[in-house]
Amino acid sequence: MSENSYEVVIVGGGPAGLTAGLYAARAGLRSILIDKGIFGGQITYAEHVENFTGFPDGISGMELGEKMHQQAQKHGLNTVSAEVTGLEINGGLKIIKTTDGNYTGKTVILAGGAVRRKLGVEGETRLMGRGVSYCAVCDGSFFQGRNLVVIGGGDTAITEALHLTHFATKVTIIHRRDQLRATYVLQQKVKSEPKIDYLWDSVVTGIEGAENVERIKLLNVKTGETSVKEVSGVFVAVGTSPDTEYIKGIVPLDESGYIITNEKMETAIPGILAAGDIRHNSARQAITAAGDGATAAIYAQKYLTESI
Ligand code: NAP
Repeated sequence: MSENSYEVVIVGGGPAGLTAGLYAARAGLRSILIDKGIFGGQITYAEHVENFTGFPDGISGMELGEKMHQQAQKHGLNTVSAEVTGLEINGGLKIIKTTDGNYTGKTVILAGGAVRRKLGVEGETRLMGRGVSYCAVCDGSFFQGRNLVVIGGGDTAITEALHLTHFATKVTIIHRRDQLRATYVLQQKVKSEPKIDYLWDSVVTGIEGAENVERIKLLNVKTGETSVKEVSGVFVAVGTSPDTEYIKGIVPLDESGYIITNEKMETAIPGILAAGDIRHNSARQAITAAGDGATAAIYAQKYLTESI
């Protein structure tokens, strides 16, 4: 087997990929995991994770990600930092193209997760990093004593709003409906937080400011009324989209770009599996992603055994 040839190549270093890597390495398979960012994936953005079993007092997302990485490496998983740019199928082999050269795998586990969706309004891209953010844990501390808004009504929006109360004077959650989507426990927590208020039935139609964010334009979707609100920071939490552009036309995707798998995490292409948030109908939790990763590695091993 040549230097860059593996039995299992894993794309993505979140809970799904790292758990797949742990299982593959412990099965004695020559395995490598490729990730372009921080190992741990989206969970590293979470200040405090309370719903990953085994940590009764919770754990910081960064620490959980680091522990998963260490554990997989300890059992023999190779890891590399590079961006995956393409996938080619050559007979039974899969060629994974990256910014660090090509890697060949007998099996591939696609676990690249999902990226934060943009709002798509005027000013958002221009003011990114200058008041527009997609990660409260990364950027929250820059907004000491400021008035902030969080856009969205899901678990991410609420988690981010709660984190921002450590720094901000006021955090306003702007939601397009009059009911949150977030889970019960988060809704209860946010209810008792005096720094948080709400703008219901409202959408942001533009973000303005010369150098940094200064104000947002709002539309009340029920009354049609428009208004302007002075703010220093806009945290966008309107969901995620899968990172599957580079496999379009190679691996079957659903209409939103998520990978279609069966319950064994197998795609329609023999030897290509997928795990975690990148999958159609994933529950999008760190713990379910880890479960997907374990399942994918087990069936990758089965495929390798049966295809000899
Ligand atoms: P999500 O559940 O899809 O929620 C996205 C929110 O953004 C929804 O409230 C949605 O409104 C709103 N939205 C979508 N497009 C919009 C637009 N164009 N303009 C304004 N608002 C828009 O996404 P998420 O909150 O990122 O959560 C993703 C997954 O991660 C979920 O499964 C969640 O449970 C999980 N997660 C869990 C935790 C935790 O357990 N602590 C933390 C973070 C995330 P509607 O409600 O009207 O659709």
